[in-house]
Amino acid sequence: MSAPGSSRTVVPPEHVFDWLDDAAAQRADAGLVRTLRHRLADETALDLAGNDYLGLARDKRVAGAGAAAALRWGAGATGSRLVTGTTELHAELEYELARFCGAQSALVFSSGFAANLGAVTALTGREAAIVTDKYIHASLIEGCRLSRADVAAVAHRDPAAVEHALSTRRRERALVVTDSVFSVDGDLAPLRELAAVVRRQSAALLVDDAHGLGVLGEGGRGAVHAAGLAAEPDVVTTVTLSKSFGAQGGAVLGPRRVIRHLVDTARSFIFDTALAPAATASALAALRVLREEPELADRVRGRAAELAGRLGEAGFGVSVPDGAVVSVRAPGPDEAVRWAAACAEQGVRVGCFRPPSVPDGVSRLRLTARADLSDADLDRAIAVIGETAPPSAR
Ligand code: PMP
Repeated sequence: MSAPGSSRTVVPPEHVFDWLDDAAAQRADAGLVRTLRHRLADETALDLAGNDYLGLARDKRVAGAGAAAALRWGAGATGSRLVTGTTELHAELEYELARFCGAQSALVFSSGFAANLGAVTALTGREAAIVTDKYIHASLIEGCRLSRADVAAVAHRDPAAVEHALSTRRRERALVVTDSVFSVDGDLAPLRELAAVVRRQSAALLVDDAHGLGVLGEGGRGAVHAAGLAAEPDVVTTVTLSKSFGAQGGAVLGPRRVIRHLVDTARSFIFDTALAPAATASALAALRVLREEPELADRVRGRAAELAGRLGEAGFGVSVPDGAVVSVRAPGPDEAVRWAAACAEQGVRVGCFRPPSVPDGVSRLRLTARADLSDADLDRAIAVIGETAPPSAR
């Protein structure tokens, strides 16, 4: 039977999604099937895979503030920020976050992903050019796509390539987009050089400091603050509240007029339900803990350095960590998967990255340090990872 007005054969409703089975089979062939593993509340596994860098997600001050806020304000925000979703908690968090990071102003979004989408799209558009590092986070890539700007992704950590792309652009306005700490390897963007490039080329700089906040810079004020760029009129920073702050949500920090523009135009701000009061209160509590205990940031960097140093001594190819992320090279994707699975069996949770998730084709384990890792935790991690990967295979 054909559809009316068309020669197309009518597909019965129960077969409309048959193509998904083919797609799933292709992913299975390519080793790209993902599984959702349940984390248990009382888990004893050593977590070197999460992003709770300061160990604050379960800190009583942080989790307790969230619980109290839920009871006071309700489980959900009840509406978007511009309608009923803004509470005094949101305003306090924005004020304190901006002050802490040294920015003029801040705006809280429901996630770091939404903050990136909103900032990149609202600050560009069809009439703008975007130049990005080719390894930026997926949320920034989606922002670039949605923006309809003219996008050029250039070589990794290469200010000269950025400068060339900017100088040959065909649009007047331009935004350079980069992560501060790249999420897979934990390496740093050359922020000062990029800032100098955007100045020479009359562009602006947007830095995703998701992995820098709470870890880098004085007292964990982030990589943008450490580079002396937080208050610059042409620099915008995005952060997540779900890593060092142990909560949920995201934010954009920058000049007041940028934040004003986002309130009026960023679609992932305007049309999204506000961040829940519980997450907002927890993030605010985490920020206050970090302000009172600035040594937490030194501590996580120290633990990462020790983890990397000891794995290096054991013969692994390890990155020298700038922040919390430690990247361990595996000879190939099969070894990476095997090592990660064996670690999990021994109660040590590590991340595993292999092509095509890693564009350079190098498989690796991704370990994340936490400020609350004890010496015994480190000993256990080194022992288990060492046992899992025989010296000849490193
Ligand atoms: N940017 C980077 C660099 C990230 O690693 C992440 C989280 N994986 C995000 C943005 C998104 O943040 P969120 O999880 O808060 O949406």
